[in-house]
Amino acid sequence: MDFELTREQIMIKKSVKEFISKEIAPVAEEIDKNDKFPPGIWRKMGDVDLLGLNTAVEYGGSGYDILTHTLAAEEMAFVCPGLALSYLAHSNLCMHNLERNANEAQKKKYLPGLCSGELIGCLGLTEPDAGSDAVGITTSAVRDGDSFLLNGSKMFITNGPEADVAIVYTKTDMEKGSHGITAFIVEKNFPGYSVSRKLDKMGNRGSTTGELVFMDCRVPEANILGELDNGVKVIMNGLDVERVVLSGISLGMGGAALELALDYARNRKQFGQSICNFQLIKAKLANMYTELEAARGLVYRAAVLVQKTERGGKGTEVHKMAAAAILFAAEAASRAVDESLQIHGGYGYMNEFPINRLYRDAKLYEIGGGTSEVRRLLIANELI
Ligand SMILES: Cc1cc2nc3c(=O)[nH]c(=O)nc-3n(C[C@H](O)[C@H](O)[C@H](O)COP(=O)(O)OP(=O)(O)OC[C@H]3O[C@@H](n4cnc5c(N)ncnc54)[C@H](O)[C@@H]3O)c2cc1C
Repeated sequence: MDFELTREQIMIKKSVKEFISKEIAPVAEEIDKNDKFPPGIWRKMGDVDLLGLNTAVEYGGSGYDILTHTLAAEEMAFVCPGLALSYLAHSNLCMHNLERNANEAQKKKYLPGLCSGELIGCLGLTEPDAGSDAVGITTSAVRDGDSFLLNGSKMFITNGPEADVAIVYTKTDMEKGSHGITAFIVEKNFPGYSVSRKLDKMGNRGSTTGELVFMDCRVPEANILGELDNGVKVIMNGLDVERVVLSGISLGMGGAALELALDYARNRKQFGQSICNFQLIKAKLANMYTELEAARGLVYRAAVLVQKTERGGKGTEVHKMAAAAILFAAEAASRAVDESLQIHGGYGYMNEFPINRLYRDAKLYEIGGGTSEVRRLLIANELI
């Protein structure tokens, strides 16, 4: 076991920190207030090679491993969890799933533009009536000559309102349940594709979330991602990586909450002394640190394990480890922001204090990308 990061990983962490400190930190509160990222942010992320961090060099990426991608998300989320969410919806949900399931022509067509930030990506699985029960989706795709006509809608899609390229899961055979799912690569200018609304969220603001609607949306057969009727394989084979990289966001948020708590506790005086001298405050700080370090150990280990499995390893250990990583990291981050806000007292309840924003951001990771309940079920089922 080696718990040291490589020189390259340390270098990437540093460069993400520099980028985010310059481009986002000064406007993080404005992003929250206005629900908008600074213009041109996608191109800027592309210019510093952030978008293709985990994509093969031949398609315009840098070919770094899953742990490096997780570290990048962690650094980004330390300053702006909303940007980290949009970043991963693009670089992981869309690009990574595309790279691992697309044919050569599809990879060449879409990945370079997604790496540069010329194109923005998203992934649409969830529907208004199908969330945890993903196999229950009803968006249909019916063959019409050498294309398919898509009908239905997708709910809560990160980057949906601005995405140029969407991976969309459909049912090509309603009778066959999980064996009738097909994934398509859909472009925003395909006729019949529209964004019906941008949703207004309590947290992770700046990151757009939308509902996508397909009305006889014509998608060429050449845009099937993976195999016809085997979209469940596309869904399943990227889940471990998704859980690990998303956990990076919780680590970043939790770390920021601890830093804010420490800073506030040192400076706030009550009863003639800094509140950090009170034992009940010390216990909160110690618990936050301990839980976040435990989460970090679990997430990084899961990242290494998932990477090894990507190289051909087998076994279900990795599924429950990746699910455990996101389950624990998400809940540890929620507890950390809660305790940090408590340490801030009444000021923490005011919108002008950054802990307030983190408090609203953190909850998402107990819900999005699979809820805590579903993660517990998965882990228990693997154990049983
Ligand atoms: C901000 C945001 C961004 C998102 N981005 C995307 C995206 O980019 N792409 C995408 O496809 N989706 C996205 N989602 C959707 C997300 O993955 C779903 O919200 C999530 O999977 C839960 O589905 P649901 O909201 O329909 O809840 P439901 O599945 O309806 O669950 C409601 C409650 O019931 C519980 N529950 C459900 N089934 C069980 C069970 N078997 N046992 C015990 N409890 C159960 C759940 O844990 C939850 O507490 C996003 C969601 C949000 C909020």
